[in-house]
Amino acid sequence: MQELRRDLHDRKYSATELAQFYLDRISAFNDRINCFITVDEEGCLERAAEFDSQFGSSTTQPLCGIPIAHKDLFCTAGLPTTCASNMLKSFIAPYDATVVKRTFDKGTVSLGKTNMDEFAMGSSNETSFFGPVRNPWNLNRVPGGSSGGAAAAVASGMTPLATGSDTGGSIRQPASLCGVTGLKPTYGRVSRFGMIAFASSLDQGGPMAHSAIDVYELLAAMEGHDPLDSTSADVSKTILPESNQSLVIGYPEAIFDGLDKNIAGCIEEARAEFEALGHTIKSVELPHVEAAIAAYYVLSSAEASTNLARYDGVRYGHRAAESEDLIDMYCKSRTEGFGLEVKRRILTGTYSLSVGYFDAYYLKAQKIRRLVRDGFLTAFENVDLILAPVTPSPAFEIASLNKQPIEMYRQDLYTIPVSLAGLPALSLPCGFVDGLPVGMQLIGPHFAEGAVLGGGIAFQNVTDWHDQHPALEATLGS
Ligand code: GLN
Repeated sequence: MQELRRDLHDRKYSATELAQFYLDRISAFNDRINCFITVDEEGCLERAAEFDSQFGSSTTQPLCGIPIAHKDLFCTAGLPTTCASNMLKSFIAPYDATVVKRTFDKGTVSLGKTNMDEFAMGSSNETSFFGPVRNPWNLNRVPGGSSGGAAAAVASGMTPLATGSDTGGSIRQPASLCGVTGLKPTYGRVSRFGMIAFASSLDQGGPMAHSAIDVYELLAAMEGHDPLDSTSADVSKTILPESNQSLVIGYPEAIFDGLDKNIAGCIEEARAEFEALGHTIKSVELPHVEAAIAAYYVLSSAEASTNLARYDGVRYGHRAAESEDLIDMYCKSRTEGFGLEVKRRILTGTYSLSVGYFDAYYLKAQKIRRLVRDGFLTAFENVDLILAPVTPSPAFEIASLNKQPIEMYRQDLYTIPVSLAGLPALSLPCGFVDGLPVGMQLIGPHFAEGAVLGGGIAFQNVTDWHDQHPALEATLGS
């Protein structure tokens, strides 16, 4: 992205030519990879032409003329926002999400909206109403989810920048499976205004790109206090990457049990790289993380069940064509509008909130959430960052887990504890296993995005995993 900005500035090509380049790649490859739900060719070229006509006068925004793709849960005025659901397939929001507005104000040119798991529920992008996204490194594999469209679009060179959202791993896991870099910011760092809610106490928008430096630049365009989101934090702690020469990096060996041994090998090598950079590695314990998945699926489903109550065919969403009375209309609209996974979450979420079960499930899960968070905070008394895996295995085959919800949920083993604790974590490529990319996470204390990004940038200065790209032209033709 740095190169694109320099080239645009030096007028090697115009913003229109750059936008056209990405639109051409989208039309060459999107049919088979399926990472875009909506391509806004007209809007994109119009906006790029605006920059070209004003070149030199008002083109000082940091991301001026740089293409971007937004996950299809960020509201965009005038363009469909579907959340990859039949329920919202014809929804057009009357306003832009804060993330969309801020990135627009910083000069980005939007190419369109990316595919995702329905309502961001999933780890493989197979729950999308618009069909699965394919992994650009191997089309029979999943790209991860729920921001799988965003990750695949960056990996396949259909956009240099993408927005994603992460509730339990949805930025970090697809970034890892597609070989790109993505950051889940601290909860509250990025405004949720206009981002369709899944689990409000966990949802967080964030940036995805090839490198940590690009991720930083996009985060800088997105983040900051927003009076329109009451959970948005008003913090002075900056996201400026820190170039600390001697960090203490925590290494939670105990959680490596059950990890694919080749992935463990990649993380071991990354650990050695950090030592060679002058950092100290220190063993840390993260108590209670084994209970995190169970707690997350109780809490996130409970929140989803209330958030998704608004889709009743009246206030929002698909309405059944024929019904006998109001209740019948609600039932039919929701039955037709939601996919299986979303229904599963609504049912389990409603159950755990119901009288008689609330204490046994919801309340207990909240207690586990606190214990997981406290475990991280204790660990951060002795270390600056924590290095951990992102996924238990490389990208799995399409359709191999979609009938086994528990196995699918287990994919989030390493990402969910961080989400429950509300911490920032960067997922960045650190190797390949069987020709498929794998990533690692750098986790930081609350609002320590600067340290996390600094660590990632230092690693990418001495490695080139993030510079590897799938050979799409060769395998797919163009
Ligand atoms: N895979 C997790 C889930 O299905 C996380 C999804 C997310 O982060 N949006 O809930």
